[in-house]
Amino acid sequence: MHKNRVNILGTEFDNFTEKQFHKYLDDDLDLKANKFIVTPNPEIVLSARKDSNFSKIVNNADYVIPDGIGIIKGAKSLGTPIHERITGFDTLQYLISAANRKQLKVYLLGAKPEVIQASAEKIKNDYPQVDLVGFHDGYFKDESEIVTEISEKKPNIVLVALGSPKQEVFINKYRNSADAIWIGVGGSFDVFSGTKKRAPKIVQKLNLEWLYRLVKEPTRIGRMTAIPKYMNLINKEKKNKG
Ligand code: UDP
Repeated sequence: MHKNRVNILGTEFDNFTEKQFHKYLDDDLDLKANKFIVTPNPEIVLSARKDSNFSKIVNNADYVIPDGIGIIKGAKSLGTPIHERITGFDTLQYLISAANRKQLKVYLLGAKPEVIQASAEKIKNDYPQVDLVGFHDGYFKDESEIVTEISEKKPNIVLVALGSPKQEVFINKYRNSADAIWIGVGGSFDVFSGTKKRAPKIVQKLNLEWLYRLVKEPTRIGRMTAIPKYMNLINKEKKNKG
């Protein structure tokens, strides 16, 4: 049904609108389907090229959604445009609202202890119909305890914030412990909890969110070198195609 995928340097992205995607998620939740969402940005596309095991995990996910304007630009440049950018953060918010609407069970995993605690509080306050069945920070030694807890609590949605590729490796390994929608959400809880601010709407509209994050967290500069590397590879690929 939604296997219309666009290959960007080896990562196969779904090509649908955010509205269609949300409809699929609603159906999945109603059916208690077991689904895995990954949200690659250019950095993840590059990591997948270097690590074939990670690439398999990403491409075998049920939904591979384009997080980051670089993916949309790359797709357009290769002559295979993708409808629109769909971020992990917006997907996290949609899933929590859907859980509130449908009174579903949610489990949160990852981020620093105070961040995940604040995220849990926010859910309890702002989404009172969500059945928050548990949460755990992302700095654990024994993952088996967490997996046991998840399998016992039977969440409908599991939000995993361990950063990439840790979160995708974790989900791929343990997704059968609950028939849930599983998603790797990176640093989303830092923003969701109010610990870090997301860029103002105008900055988001101008596609400069990456610059905002860089100014706020200059240590991200190392990671940002992924963008020019990625654009170079896109240009090479374009020439090969042309
Ligand atoms: N993190 C974690 N456990 C770890 C490493 C990272 O829980 O062992 C969390 C970290 O606290 C942060 C998130 O994973 O909340 C990764 O954030 P980052 O900004 O790197 O993710 P991005 O959104 O850029 O992928």
